[in-house]
Amino acid sequence: MLEMRSHCQACGKELAPDSPNAVICSYECTFCREHELSACPNCKGELVRRPIRVLPAPTVAAGPSGPPGIEMTLTGYVLRREDGSQATLADLVSVEILNEDEVYFVLTGAQSSLVIPQSTPGIEGLLTHLQKLPGFQHDKFLEAMEGSGRFVCWRLPNEAKVGSPPEA
Ligand SMILES: [Zn+2]
Ligand SMILES: [Zn+2]
Repeated sequence: MLEMRSHCQACGKELAPDSPNAVICSYECTFCREHELSACPNCKGELVRRPIRVLPAPTVAAGPSGPPGIEMTLTGYVLRREDGSQATLADLVSVEILNEDEVYFVLTGAQSSLVIPQSTPGIEGLLTHLQKLPGFQHDKFLEAMEGSGRFVCWRLPNEAKVGSPPEA
């Protein structure tokens, strides 16, 4: 494998693996292109542009956030998916249970909504939290677990002003 030297051997400037400005000789002596060297000063060999090496994205990029799951935060909810992506929700407006083969928690916020499969890690904590919401309808929740369809278990009390669907 090509040795990707990290610095120019003439001026010491950093040459990252994805830098388009590195030139190398056949011994991998590495220089900046800016020096416009006609040959390698060390071996007199030909200098060519070094191919760019794309490094795999560091796994920490997936987050200081942590493993997949649903989490309550000070401002709302964070859902981290298996693929490392995450979605957030703030200003909870309604909680619905969608039961079709699998059970999903549908949290709707002012700006967005989250559809959370029941198999999501942390769901028990979420449920405990939701059941403490003032006015959470436990009977609806139990009904949802038994039946199939979509069940509204909780709604922000004054949401009616904004215009909610005609549904009890
Ligand atoms: Zn240089
Ligand atoms: Zn050389």
